[in-house]
Amino acid sequence: MTDTVSTARSEDLFAEAQGLMPGGVSSPVRAFKSVSGVPRFIERGEGPYLVDVDGNRYIDYVLSFGPLLLGHAPDAVTQAITEQAAKGTSYGAPSPLEVRLAHQIQDRYPSMERLRFVNSGTEGAMSAVRAARAFTGRNKVVKFDGHYHGHADLLLAKAGSGVATLGLPDSPGVPAAVTADTLVIPFNDEAAVREVFEREGSEIAALLVEPIAGNMGLVRPRDGYLQMLREVTETHGALLVFDEVMVGFRVHPGGAQALYDVTPDLTVLGKVIGGGLPVGAYGGRADVMKLVAPDGPVYQAGTLSGNPLAMAAGLALLGEVDATGAWEAAAEAARTTAEAVQSAADAAGVPVVTDAVGTMFGFFFNDRSLFSFEDVQTSDKAAFSRLHGLLLERRVYLPPSPFEACFTSSAHTPDVVETAAEAFQSAFAAL
Ligand SMILES: *Cc1c(COP(=O)(O)O)cnc(C)c1O
Repeated sequence: MTDTVSTARSEDLFAEAQGLMPGGVSSPVRAFKSVSGVPRFIERGEGPYLVDVDGNRYIDYVLSFGPLLLGHAPDAVTQAITEQAAKGTSYGAPSPLEVRLAHQIQDRYPSMERLRFVNSGTEGAMSAVRAARAFTGRNKVVKFDGHYHGHADLLLAKAGSGVATLGLPDSPGVPAAVTADTLVIPFNDEAAVREVFEREGSEIAALLVEPIAGNMGLVRPRDGYLQMLREVTETHGALLVFDEVMVGFRVHPGGAQALYDVTPDLTVLGKVIGGGLPVGAYGGRADVMKLVAPDGPVYQAGTLSGNPLAMAAGLALLGEVDATGAWEAAAEAARTTAEAVQSAADAAGVPVVTDAVGTMFGFFFNDRSLFSFEDVQTSDKAAFSRLHGLLLERRVYLPPSPFEACFTSSAHTPDVVETAAEAFQSAFAAL
């Protein structure tokens, strides 16, 4: 499968799109700035595959950056969306679907005693911070270098993949005053946490963390690290916010909080819970969430929030995961794909470290385990870019950045992974 991949129609569309939209895309990483070649314009998704407008079919390890735990267009989700669309796409009023999805989420995330649906992870993280600030009466927020919590102004400081990949240390248009209360420290560094809380603990409203980092490549917390965050935040009366927008439902059905048995005060979700439609949620302790309007004075609203199409899609996805071994199948695919990457790299004598957690995996062109954003930056970005191109020629689609995690679905059956494994062998050999 190394015959030439034609990209003529994608090239035409990309040229046209660049005259219409910044970079020709609706979200920056999609523009392929850190890899070679033209972004593929997608005609359709089918199970584990993306099919582009030139008719090339790729095994997809991006899956819309996480949501598609059942692969593209699974029957259960398509049917739920279709049936719901016929009953209306938005009501501007509550629906039973929200109640059902809230139950489904709470069953798996019991720390979310109350939750609010929003339209994106960005909104969820931004709103969680607002609630935390209101609850504590404090302004400062601690986040980790390389962790991404969406593009709300105050959280757009040292924010991982998209930002890192484009080499923007920060973003113009974000007033210094807005990030002045955002304190950024390195991930997996216990001393840095203790130090910032000893210095400013009485002013810190919340600490936000991607409990398993996924927006600087896949980076696990060190043993006991999340427990330490729990203890330090509690000691200082700050809220611990787990941003599980990416890892929720993926690293474990109950998220990183179940996997590591750490209970955050607030949790942010997105991606998987919308079954591929735009959605987010935030929630947690009832005493914090009761401050949110209309129970309390903290304003937060949304015309399309709790959107019935998104709720129906999320419910269908989670229902299918419950009724079948879909999560286990996706996790098996993540494990075997990571093994395939490692063995292909080893055979080619290329230093690569791989990891898989649940239904996600990642790898770095590096020769040691990595724990922080500074660490991951020592990886060979040029090698990743070359590998990315070689894999596209072999019909395997990886995230177009060395600092994004990879995702699997239940549609990534053993024979699909076997096909990908052959492509990895051949691509690493050609590096
Ligand atoms: C994707 C992501 C977000 C932002 O979600 P959007 O729906 O893209 O706004 C926030 N936090 C994390 C950890 C994410 O991976």
